[in-house]
Parts: sequence; structure tokens; C-alpha cells
Amino acid sequence: MKNKPETAYVLVVDDEEGIRSGSERILIRMGLKVLTAARGNEALDIMEREDVSIVLLDLKMPGLDGMQVLKRIRETNLNILVIVITGYATVETAIEAMKQGAYDFIAKPFEPDHLRIVVNRAREKIKLTFEAESLELERKRTLADLGTEKSRVRTIIESLPNGIIVTNSLGQVALMNPALLRYIGIDPSCGATGEHISHYVKDEGFCRLVMEISQGKHLDAGDVPAYEFSPVEGKFLMARGRPVLGDENECLGAVVAVEDITALKVLDRLKSEFVAKVSHELRSPLSTIHEQIAVVLKDLAGEESNDERLILARAKEKTSGLISLIGDLLDLSRIEAGAVYHEPKPVNIDVLLKNIVDFLDIRAKSRQQTLVLELPDYPLPSLTTDPLAIESIFGNLITNALNYTQKGGRIIVTAGLAENNLIVKVKDNGFGIEQAYIDKIFDKFFRVKNEKTRMITGTGLGLPIVKGLLNDLGGSVSVESAPDRGSVFIVSIPVKKQ
Ligand code: ADP
Repeated sequence: MKNKPETAYVLVVDDEEGIRSGSERILIRMGLKVLTAARGNEALDIMEREDVSIVLLDLKMPGLDGMQVLKRIRETNLNILVIVITGYATVETAIEAMKQGAYDFIAKPFEPDHLRIVVNRAREKIKLTFEAESLELERKRTLADLGTEKSRVRTIIESLPNGIIVTNSLGQVALMNPALLRYIGIDPSCGATGEHISHYVKDEGFCRLVMEISQGKHLDAGDVPAYEFSPVEGKFLMARGRPVLGDENECLGAVVAVEDITALKVLDRLKSEFVAKVSHELRSPLSTIHEQIAVVLKDLAGEESNDERLILARAKEKTSGLISLIGDLLDLSRIEAGAVYHEPKPVNIDVLLKNIVDFLDIRAKSRQQTLVLELPDYPLPSLTTDPLAIESIFGNLITNALNYTQKGGRIIVTAGLAENNLIVKVKDNGFGIEQAYIDKIFDKFFRVKNEKTRMITGTGLGLPIVKGLLNDLGGSVSVESAPDRGSVFIVSIPVKKQ
């Protein structure tokens, strides 16, 4: 960019010493930096060396005359403003000089004021040109910056190893990066946008998630809905999304990140298979040990010495704990492997619940607890399902309610219909669960550890089994709980219309 105009020189070119020195004085008083030259050549030399912005140029000079100097200036530096000094008011020469590109003219002899006016006009013009150029430069730079910023963000999004999809509030796709296109089997080189999400991704659950986010259903900052799906055989993807918010916090659409979790899935399956195999191998020797201890204990029944009996009784208790852990592990492996438990049969849910409650009531009584089943005054429809799965779900939940409730506590099981779902609630007034653990209790092996639960034996597999079975049945389980106030586990199972 050019220097600021104030720092440049005014060059006075005239062969008359009086004009040179007179003009110099006036211009210096105007606060300008002045150089002078008596000949055209000398003036051109100075202009090559110094930063000159205005030239006061006498047209009539010995040697290179003013017109020639003007021509050379126009050829080499269009930014210099030339004010020609014409002798004795020759208007024609002045007009000619203006045609050749002079900015203004002043006729000899001139008054100081006249010189000041002409030079000030030129200064003003230079200042305005400078400002206009600076603005233009600034504008170009901002545009260039914006351009680079945009292309940088674009490059980053396109290079991400994970898939990204952005939709507007109607669920129409605004952006899909190459990774996402590859995941869903679209050639990245011809990936178009603009259509509704369901046009590109055929998985209903994924489209539902994107639509829910796009329409502002998950505005809470901590709410990051996730969804696992398999667009093609053998590939597993995990999608997590957030709404895109506008200035007024209105929902403009959704941004969903999609990750390939196939490798993790394979690893998880291998782990589950390993656990299943080990559990299976351990079960029969353990059962044998358990039975043998039982036989020895029976033989010792009449003996005086209690010590051995006590040791063996403990060992029997431990093996029985291990057998139940193995049973849970095998159940879980089967559920995770998607193996159907048993053939679906018509299940009379109120009879089944009554049987479980009757069976567990013996345990409740031994703990001075009240276990009540409340059935509705209308008949519950029979479910065509796996009876052992249903038994396992409610058996686990009611056993937990008894285990995690103090002596003398109260457990109520209620059943009813809501729309097309069977709703069963298992409510206790026991220890309750801290909010921080509510989501964790359905994780494998998770157990809340505190003063009250310390002495209670368990595997941490009951609730994952309940959740896995309900998933298979298309149902769900949720929990509401508060420490020392109790918990309620709510199970929902869809009832198919006959
Ligand atoms: P387990 O009972 O074998 O420990 P679960 O998976 O059935 O395993 O339960 C996980 C944890 O959830 C339990 O260890 C307990 O801390 C908590 N929990 C389950 N049910 C209840 C309940 N009704 N009241 C309080 N805590 C419960």
C-alpha cells in the first residue's frame, strides 16, 4: 500500500528561482514537505528517488519542457497529481496539459492564496483517493479472510473421519460429509443434498431421531440423544445429535455426528462369547461341588462338632452365589446373542404375576415385609410371549425390591393397561437410589455401594437382564427413585392386538 499522503513531498519544478523559492515558502507554511527542481530532468530524477505526491510543473523550461515531463510522469506514476504552471495565461496550453493528464493548472503570476487553493484541492483529492483505496483494500481483505475461513471449515468437515449430517428444521439435508456418504453407501463424488433425510437414509429410527432434533425436541444442553443402527449388513453405526440454535435460541435444524462402531461391536461380541464359554464350562463342576458339599453337610447333621459344619455351610453358600452368578451370565449372553428364550405362548399376565408374588411372599414374610399385588378390576389381555422371559423380568424386579428395602418395608406390584401397553409397576419404600446412579444401574455389573447395600449379595446383572429381555419384547423399563424414600420400576410391554 502507498504511504500516507501527508508524508509525501510536493515538488516545485520551475526554472525561475523566484517562483521556486516563493512557492516553497508558502507550501512549507502550509505544513507540506517541499522539494524543488530547476530543470525537467532533475525533477524526474527526484521523483525516482523520493515519494512525491504533487508536482507543480512549469511548462516552459529550457531542456526537457513541461509537457514532456508531464508525459513521462503519466507514463510512470499515475498517482502523482500534476499542477501545471502556465506562463501569461495561455489557456490553450493549460487545456492541452489537462488533456495530457494534468490535474489542475495555475497561471503565472499567481498570488499565494491562489497557490494555496490549488494545492489544497490536490491534497484533498489525494486524501480522498487514499481513503477510498484503503477501504477497497480492507474490503478485499475481509472477503479474502472470509473465503479462507469458509474453505478451512469445509476442508476440516470433509476430512473428518466421522460422518456429519446437517439438516434444516424440516429435516431436509443441508450437508453430508464424505465419511457419512460412505457409511450410508452413497458415492461421495456424486453426493447431492436438499432432499428429506429419509431419501438418503432408510433406517426409520435414525430418521426419527434426526426429525426429533430438527424440530427442537432435545434443546436441553445435557440431552444428547444417541441411536445405534446398521445401514448395511455387518456395519454398525452410532449417531449422536444436537439441535442447531439461532440467535433467539430457536431451533434451526440438527447436526448429527455418526461414528462407525463395528470394531467395538465385534470386540464386545467376542467378549460375550468368551464369558458365555467360561460360564458354561464352570457351571457343571461348580454344581457338582455344591451338591457334594450338601451331601457331606447332611452326613454331618447329627455330629457334635459344629466347626466343620459351619465351614461347609459357608462354602455351600458361596458356591450357590457363584452358581447364580453363572446363571445370570449365561442368561445375559443368550439375550445379547439375540437367542430366543423359548417359543412364544399365550401368557396370562395376572396369573403369572400372582404366582411370582406368592412364591416371593415367603421371602418377604421372613423379612417382615408386606408384598402386595394390585390387579385392575378389568381383565388383563393375555400376551403371546416367552413366559420365562416375563418371569425373569418380574422375578428380578420384585427380588430387588425385597433386597433393597429394610425389614418391615412395603412392596406393591400394580398392573394395568395404558393405550396398547401393559404397564407393571414395582414400588418399594426402601433404600432408594441416588439420582447420579439412576442411569448406571442398568449397566452390567454395576452395583450401588453404600452402608445399606454393603451386606447385600448380588451380581449387578439382574437389571441388565431385565432391560435386555424387554428390548427383545419391544418394551421398556424406567425408574423413579429417591434415597430413603423408595423406588418404583415401571415396565411397559406392548400388547399386540389379536
Ligand atoms: P444386583 O441386585 O445383583 O446387585 P441388579 O442389576 O439387579 O444387580 O441391580 C443393580 C443395582 O441397582 C443394585 O446393586 C442396587 O444398588 C440397585 N437397585 C436395584 N433395584 C433397586 C431397588 N428396588 N431399590 C434400590 N436400589 C436398587
